[in-house]
Amino acid sequence: MPILTFTRGADPRHRLGVLTAGDAVLDLSEWARSVPRPVPFDSSDMVSLIAAGPSAWSEIAQVARSDGPTVAREEVRLLAPIPRPRKNVVCVGWNYRAHFAEAQALHNRGQDFPEHPTFFTKAPTSVIGPYDPIPFNPAVSSQIDWEAELAVVIGRRGINIPETDADQYVFGYMIANDISARDLQRQYGGQYFKGKSLDGSCPCGPWITTADEVDPHSLHITSRVNGATKQESTTELLYFNIPRLIASLSLGMTLEPGDIIVTGTPPGVGFGRTPPEFLKPGDLLETEIEHLGVLRNPVQASA
Ligand code: ZN
Repeated sequence: MPILTFTRGADPRHRLGVLTAGDAVLDLSEWARSVPRPVPFDSSDMVSLIAAGPSAWSEIAQVARSDGPTVAREEVRLLAPIPRPRKNVVCVGWNYRAHFAEAQALHNRGQDFPEHPTFFTKAPTSVIGPYDPIPFNPAVSSQIDWEAELAVVIGRRGINIPETDADQYVFGYMIANDISARDLQRQYGGQYFKGKSLDGSCPCGPWITTADEVDPHSLHITSRVNGATKQESTTELLYFNIPRLIASLSLGMTLEPGDIIVTGTPPGVGFGRTPPEFLKPGDLLETEIEHLGVLRNPVQASA
């Protein structure tokens, strides 16, 4: 079931919705108002729904199959499914061998592929919606690059999660683009956080598809700039699979409902190209993953 966060018309309040089989949006806020008892989650807040657990999820799946109040897709504005994560978004630095190889070739480093996942994070304020503009300010960075990635949304609290149980901790999957300011990555000590955390550098969505409907290790993944394909791969090539990432990350560190893990990017990023390519105002960046939808983010000059 694809679950989304949206607004309607001029009303700025966030609402949760389900994309129906007929491509309409079931308005869970309207539904919550219409039922004669308290609903076990805040119908404006995805993390609250995730934390409410499987009984709440199956209830809304049932509502989505019946006659819930729907609104036409054209009449809603989609936001990031979790517009303001409670914590930093966790990313994986190297998870496709060919992306590691393109970066190694560029810097002539000759290192071996890491034995464990390389984790870093993006600030919660970097998150934007599936069709929102990516800000471009040359006074901040002139090397804004793309990284198409599969994102995992955690559904259940856990620590020291074994690989064999990891599936039970996943709520669902969505698309993310780990937009990266390459010049800032270099200027600030070569570490990732600053260059990965600019406002607007984490487009997400367009919705979260619940885990029961997705095999996360067999999805075609692409990015396009102005219609030209830049990255094209499959999540079959994830070096550290999702159970391994969850086991590694949760070792001694609690994961909670709504936590986001972005699983790494395939080759074809701008800095690895000859000559290097970066985004500029007026460009349209599309990020697509099979079964999960498409993000369409224009690049927009900002002060
Ligand atoms: Zn990345």
